[in-house]
Amino acid sequence: MLACDTRDAWTQFLHFAKKKCSPAAFGNWFAPIQVIESTEELLTLEVPNIFVQEYLLSNYKQDLLSFLPVTDNGELAIQFVVAHQKKSAPVFTAAPSIKIDANKDNFPEVKLNNQYRFETFIEGATNQFVKSAAMGVAQRPGMSYNPLFIHGGVGLGKTHILHSIGHYIRENHKKLRIQCITTEAFINELVDNLRNKSIEKMKRFYRTEVDVLLVDDIQFLQNRLNFEEELAFTFEALKNKGAQIVITSDKAPSLLKLSERTIGKMEGGLVAHMGIPELETRVAILMHKAEQKGLQIPHNVAFFIAEHIHNNVRQLEGAVNRLSAHCRLLDLNITEELVTKTLREMLQQAPREKISVEQILKSVATVFQVKVSDLRGSTRTKDIALPRQVAMYLAKEMINESLIMLGASFGKTHSTILHAYKNIEKKVATDETLRRQIGMIRRNIN
Ligand code: ADP
Ligand code: MG
Repeated sequence: MLACDTRDAWTQFLHFAKKKCSPAAFGNWFAPIQVIESTEELLTLEVPNIFVQEYLLSNYKQDLLSFLPVTDNGELAIQFVVAHQKKSAPVFTAAPSIKIDANKDNFPEVKLNNQYRFETFIEGATNQFVKSAAMGVAQRPGMSYNPLFIHGGVGLGKTHILHSIGHYIRENHKKLRIQCITTEAFINELVDNLRNKSIEKMKRFYRTEVDVLLVDDIQFLQNRLNFEEELAFTFEALKNKGAQIVITSDKAPSLLKLSERTIGKMEGGLVAHMGIPELETRVAILMHKAEQKGLQIPHNVAFFIAEHIHNNVRQLEGAVNRLSAHCRLLDLNITEELVTKTLREMLQQAPREKISVEQILKSVATVFQVKVSDLRGSTRTKDIALPRQVAMYLAKEMINESLIMLGASFGKTHSTILHAYKNIEKKVATDETLRRQIGMIRRNIN
């Protein structure tokens, strides 16, 4: 084999990757990677976080294999080092492109919620991506994903992550000047400054003096045309000088009612979605919040609560607060019964696996000893018509869909479903056998 330093091979790979992806993607994923060491057999790369490594391996492994040598057991001869795991002195220095003002003292102190830190953010499958991206940004502000756009439903931890970035940068990049604002506050400030004729000063401040701008709840910018323009200019100016921008929103950029230009800018960096945490993560969050309050919640009760409060972490927290107050006052043990009583109006129906018409038809067919195809057909004999109506009755009862949709699943109209429902409802009131049969089918499905 031709002796070739793996560094050269890596450079060639970078040329290749640059042609293959967009400039923004290249800037986000490849530019931050550094060669630490290279020999003929092994290339050691430093990545800002595990996220970049995963991206590289899941998207470019085949290409890497054609540029770089492989080890004896056929693996890619790359060793990754995640930057913050190195023991040496501060790894992440300020981005060189960010102008550092020696006169930081006059800069207003950034206001951050002290509880909202990476360390207190519980990770799960649905928010891992956001957390890694946020850490990437916090470690290398202005140099990785810019802007970082985080979107997701209410109460899922967007503000928590935004402030975590602020804390991290404040502690690790002491010279950077950070501002964290809600979009509403930004608009109010603009209005005030317009009134006081000090708007130029404000523009100058945001466009030139800020190194890291954290903007919460950008959806409030919708239908505020003049303000949209102002914020868009600010983003542009900040980005040009290498400052980091992080934005949160309750919707994806493309769903925001903003100009295409603004949306394009927001999509230009990394867009990360914050999902609803799954049950195990909700339990972990709940236990964590309870621990912070000095409250002992038995594991089975934590599961019970997390099962019944499933789409909003803020509500989980509310549940802990209420339980904590209640138990302290009355000196009670936390049990499922107590939880049901105290949190009655907070608890939602535990999400069921979605039941399908097919499942219902199968169960009905088994219990009534008929064929699914007959139930789907249009034979009107009594021994088929009754079970068919039972299937429709159960579908209306167990599936949360409109009558029209249900009708379509049976190849019938919505009025047929309604008629069947009423008919069976009347029959079960008097027919014990039918009642028992339906009970059996229901249990079978559940
Ligand atoms: P959003 O901004 O998305 O509406 P917040 O960031 O205000 O939501 O989060 C609501 C509450 O839930 C906060 O108190 C936050 O600390 C908490 N929270 C949300 N997700 C997590 C998580 N993964 N780990 C710990 N706490 C969380
Ligand atoms: Mg928020």
